[in-house]
Amino acid sequence: MSLSITTDYAADKGCPEPYLHRIADAGFSHVHWCHQWNTDFLYSRWEVSQIRKWLREYGLALLDLHGSLGPEKNWASSREYERRAGIDLVRNRLQMTAQLGGDVVIMHVPAEPDWTALKKSLDALEPVARKCGVRIAVENGRFDTIDRILAEYGPEYVGLCYDCGHGNVGQDGLSSLDAIKDRLISVHLHDNDGTGDQHKLLFSGTVDWPRLARIIAASSYRKCVSMETSMRNSGIPDEEAFLAKAFETGTALTGMIEPERRKMCG
Ligand SMILES: [Zn+2]
Repeated sequence: MSLSITTDYAADKGCPEPYLHRIADAGFSHVHWCHQWNTDFLYSRWEVSQIRKWLREYGLALLDLHGSLGPEKNWASSREYERRAGIDLVRNRLQMTAQLGGDVVIMHVPAEPDWTALKKSLDALEPVARKCGVRIAVENGRFDTIDRILAEYGPEYVGLCYDCGHGNVGQDGLSSLDAIKDRLISVHLHDNDGTGDQHKLLFSGTVDWPRLARIIAASSYRKCVSMETSMRNSGIPDEEAFLAKAFETGTALTGMIEPERRKMCG
């Protein structure tokens, strides 16, 4: 069985090796690359090739990668130099993803973007993404913004990353997901109590997991359960114990999605 967890369950900067090692030891097959997800950090070829070696050494595959909308290199910025630097940053992540064997980069968009700026960036990145064989998944966020992007760009270039934690805070994200589930290409699975984006372990908050499992099974998403859970609010201070619990809950969710998928196929 395939199962994925985010690389930043404990830290999102610094050397990733110890976390990759522990993720592999806990039995995971894949990682969601989430280091440097909100920084201006540009990965050099030396870093990408070292990460490639580590993934191979630990028997891990890259499921997808969280691209960055940095504080100063921002693909949606209204300042032209900042937006162009933001394009360089996203291009860096698209190429890195291809080099590591992945096929999706997840991007945040502002709730109320400067549409002219954002569309210029999406247009500029399309040939890069196509050449890399990597698609961009826009993460919710506000669904009216996501809907508009998905209406303007086709499924061969842009899809949806559904973050079920975001969708559980102050909105009925699952109904919004249900309406565009044929564009789902990535998932960020974690839980919260509805009051904030807590990135807790699955089944420890108020996300409606049976309903989410049914929607995922009926969606265009074909990859494994991918958790964006963090130790921070888990109540488990030990890394190994945290990863073991994450593995157990991810396995349980897989066991809820698979029978639903079989029902659809049968
Ligand atoms: Zn997320």
